[in-house]
Amino acid sequence: MRISEFDLIRHYFSDLSYGAATVITGVGDDAAIIGGDCDTNQVVTVDTLNAGVHFFADDKPEDIARKAVLVNLSDLAAMGAEPQWITLSLTLPDADQGWIKRFSQGLRSVLKDYRISLVGGDTCRGEHLSISIQASGKVPVGQAVLRSAAKPGEKIYVTGFLGDAGAGLMIRQGKIKALHPETGDYLMHRLYAPSPRISFAMSIRNMASAGIDVSDGLLADLGHILEASHVGAELDIGQLPLSKPLLAQMGLDQARNLAMTAGEDYELCFTAPAQASEKIRLLAEAQRLPVRCIGQITTGSGLVASLDGQTFCLPEQGGYRHF
Ligand code: ADP
Ligand code: MG
Repeated sequence: MRISEFDLIRHYFSDLSYGAATVITGVGDDAAIIGGDCDTNQVVTVDTLNAGVHFFADDKPEDIARKAVLVNLSDLAAMGAEPQWITLSLTLPDADQGWIKRFSQGLRSVLKDYRISLVGGDTCRGEHLSISIQASGKVPVGQAVLRSAAKPGEKIYVTGFLGDAGAGLMIRQGKIKALHPETGDYLMHRLYAPSPRISFAMSIRNMASAGIDVSDGLLADLGHILEASHVGAELDIGQLPLSKPLLAQMGLDQARNLAMTAGEDYELCFTAPAQASEKIRLLAEAQRLPVRCIGQITTGSGLVASLDGQTFCLPEQGGYRHF
């Protein structure tokens, strides 16, 4: 019998908490929150990248290492947490020292940039290259940004631009050709070197009510917020933030489509009460990060969208699902 990825997790893995540790938020958010000392909570997440599923086996080892760390940091950012350390579990088809050296250099560069330590892991042989990284960070007690706290009337924001990584992937897969070398470079960079919005996320954790990182596509990820918060949303398609290179490469309709359905942008999608909008604008400006209001939370359930005041028919299904 076939079962979807999220049903599988909910059914078989969401109810196995028997330890003494205080689990504040377990399975079902971007990361788990565990009680720490009296001032801080520990935030923990793990993500695996498999050759042939998440990256091409012949991708540059530096790129693979960097992205494996960045996608985990993005989940910590989604919670408003400050990253502290990672562990690395590596499955290698062979011990090619040249490859491992470059992988380690990639790790070093990203860990240095974000001032994080590799504190442990596991290395073993396996048929296919696979990289699992667990990341941990901290957040002041009660300030983690959950998926489950969005309220009707609040505004929905996204950081940066959406759809870039999806177009980068189409170029990497050979489905399309880059219009110009610079366009191609930009889109590939967005695919291989996402920018987890850690400092921005930490700065808005008092204002944001709910948040998620856009890893599987905006419709799918915003959908997780709606489901967890038992609310609906109205999206203004004209407000989707689209980069110039994406528009040049794909045209407006296809760019919008990618912004809604393609994954791997690792931007933040968050909700906040309307009275926080000026503060959010100022914080975004101070950090030179584009932050766009794309709609609002409503009562009820599910997503509706409009464009120039007309109802807009959303694409069938957004988001990558493994099962
Ligand atoms: P994200 O896209 O933010 O990394 P996922 O969609 O991978 O989140 O996972 C959704 C939730 O399910 C998370 O809370 C994650 O920890 C949990 N989860 C996923 N797989 C498992 C598993 N095998 N056992 C326990 N929890 C899991
Ligand atoms: Mg996530």
